[in-house]
Amino acid sequence: MSQDLANEPSDSLSVTISGGSMGGLFTGIALDNAGHDVTVAEQSAGDLRSRGGGIVAQQSIRQFLSRHDIVDPATITTRASERRFLTADGDVRTSTSDSMVFTSWDAVYRQLRAAFPDDRYHTGRTVTGLRATDGAVRFADGDRTAADLVVAADGGQSTARAQLFPETEPEFADYVAWRGVVPETDVSDAVIDAFDGRFTFYQGERTLILAYCIPGGDGSTAPGDRRLNWVWYDTLRGRERDIIFTDTTGASQQFSVSPGHLQNPVETRQRGRATEILPPVFADLVATTAAPFVQAIYDLKTPQMTVDRVCLLGDAAFVARPHTAAGTAKAASDAVELKAALDRHSSLGDALASWDDARTDYGERLVAQGKRMGDERLSLGS
Ligand SMILES: Cc1cc2nc3c(=O)[nH]c(=O)nc-3n(C[C@H](O)[C@H](O)[C@H](O)COP(=O)(O)OP(=O)(O)OC[C@H]3O[C@@H](n4cnc5c(N)ncnc54)[C@H](O)[C@@H]3O)c2cc1C
Repeated sequence: MSQDLANEPSDSLSVTISGGSMGGLFTGIALDNAGHDVTVAEQSAGDLRSRGGGIVAQQSIRQFLSRHDIVDPATITTRASERRFLTADGDVRTSTSDSMVFTSWDAVYRQLRAAFPDDRYHTGRTVTGLRATDGAVRFADGDRTAADLVVAADGGQSTARAQLFPETEPEFADYVAWRGVVPETDVSDAVIDAFDGRFTFYQGERTLILAYCIPGGDGSTAPGDRRLNWVWYDTLRGRERDIIFTDTTGASQQFSVSPGHLQNPVETRQRGRATEILPPVFADLVATTAAPFVQAIYDLKTPQMTVDRVCLLGDAAFVARPHTAAGTAKAASDAVELKAALDRHSSLGDALASWDDARTDYGERLVAQGKRMGDERLSLGS
């Protein structure tokens, strides 16, 4: 850390955030509320589309929404009070009481986006480079700016991380997550009953599927308006990855193939496998899903989360496997802790150093936990 940075006051900073998804908005709102001068640059040109579907509404997400007066979390969440495992025939193998709270990516994003000022949220603005020593940021259109603090919340394929830590690469597991979202009006009463108020699983031979209710596309949690969200972890065989991740345009994707872009034979084969091996309610759910999609499962660890004036936050720094259900919650707590460190320390350098220590340690532990859950507990992946 340079001497200048160590002595620089942290009370009111100019902040540029690269990435306007969950991590960028949590940070933007937290730092804006604390009186910093924050601007968000998001590369997508329009409103961000949902990346998928359901998320577990961990306490840090709910606390963020209520403590920042954004929305009463109860209005955008659904609850389960029972965790069930089914047999292949669909009978209940085990049932335990367990309290879980769920929401959807789009319901949370919509609330966060509405809580951040439009005039400081710039879409279609791609960060192409930065200089950590003086906070200089370069954009794709040739514009340049400089900030006291640059927060890279630009996701698992972070441009900032590629520049600062080019040796950091995702490590792919040998299984993927097939996913889908279905309006509850599209399924039978028996299917709704299997998932309403219940977090329901089926574990087969190197395969695991789970489903739960989430708010509807408009965020409503009223019965009849909700959707069912399923995630199916399934092992890859041979060179299947290349085939699955080649989308309808023939392009080879590394991380995901979005709804409507799975090649026909790939989708048909996975639907067939659902009918063959899943309990009837899960098979019905997959069959009713109009546009399933697939995401790669990978571990990603960065050696540190700050370099001079730049912070890597959320998925840009660490990606843990989704079994931890913690990606969005971690982005929220990274942001809250960054704001707290800036409050606690009179110098920017000290604040970033203490935040880096604590959050890097947390990120490493989360990645290790996700790996253990996938590789050992669920007998999935290498
Ligand atoms: C199968 C699966 C299941 C999951 N389930 C859960 C769950 O149950 N609970 C949970 O909490 N999380 C879950 N997650 C994780 C969750 O989606 C993310 O961890 C979380 O949203 C953190 O996002 P982020 O803002 O850091 O990154 P992202 O959401 O990836 O956002 C990055 C943003 O930066 C923008 N961007 C990228 N590059 C640039 C650039 N150069 N310039 C400007 N903008 C840029 C992108 O357009 C994007 O908007 C799951 C993930 C997977 C794969």
